[in-house]
Amino acid sequence: MNTRRASILREMGLGPIWRTRGAALENAVEQPASLPTPSEVVVEPGRRPSQPQPEQPRRPAEPKPGVSSPIVLAPVNSPTSQPPHDRRLVHIASLDWDALENDIRACTACRLCESRQQAVPGIGDRNGAWMLVGEGPGAEEDRRGEPFVGAAGQLLDDMLGAIGLTRTKNVYIANAVKCRPPLNRTPQPDEIAACLPYLERQIALVRPKLLIALGRPAALSLLGQEIKINAARGRLFRHAGVPVVVTYHPAYLLRNQTDKGRAWEDLCLARSTMTRIAGDSEN
Ligand code: SF4
Repeated sequence: MNTRRASILREMGLGPIWRTRGAALENAVEQPASLPTPSEVVVEPGRRPSQPQPEQPRRPAEPKPGVSSPIVLAPVNSPTSQPPHDRRLVHIASLDWDALENDIRACTACRLCESRQQAVPGIGDRNGAWMLVGEGPGAEEDRRGEPFVGAAGQLLDDMLGAIGLTRTKNVYIANAVKCRPPLNRTPQPDEIAACLPYLERQIALVRPKLLIALGRPAALSLLGQEIKINAARGRLFRHAGVPVVVTYHPAYLLRNQTDKGRAWEDLCLARSTMTRIAGDSEN
């Protein structure tokens, strides 16, 4: 282990747990002795969290015998014939990066717009193979317009550094909701659902090879179901075909230092999954 990585792991409170594997593997990810084998599985996102379902077209009533039926015009597939929710989805799905970020900054689709200073779209490499999804902006993020700043952001940078990554290279970072929940409360399912089209569009534009969900709201957003982090760790989920690793949010880890070792295991799972994906794409 080089000195820098050793100091990073020490910073995460992990130093004594890991074994050095040898100089030839200096750049490889060290696996924890008890790293669980991921169960390959898993859950394709089904229903979105409390997301309003598009209206189903109604079938015209069967004409009664002897009663002439009125002429029914086939619905014209114009934007104005769609429900507002569907129009919004179609609109967001068509946006390029700049238009998407402008749309997010002007968004009033949920109550979180009322208390924000500014929306926080995301940051990082727009072509990153890695995409990290957090919960929502905190006070400092709301002030600066950038996700994961402050102590949690520093820990996230340390976690990324421990597996050889930085937030500006090959990594894109976004949140499940783009506006700060008041008093840093957990975003509610309907807020996550309202913001999901933006996250979906970011994922579609980045086209990551691997997604990491940081905390339960991020997992709810990506998996479309409530999960417990402890139960989801060590498994590979999928979102639109992209593997998803679930782990703790850095802010949680700041309050629960003993779980840092588990977070390290999750990062090792993410790293080994990415290595496998890269190997598969070469073959
Ligand atoms: S959290 Fe998302 S959906 Fe809600 S107002 Fe902000 S950008 Fe819009």
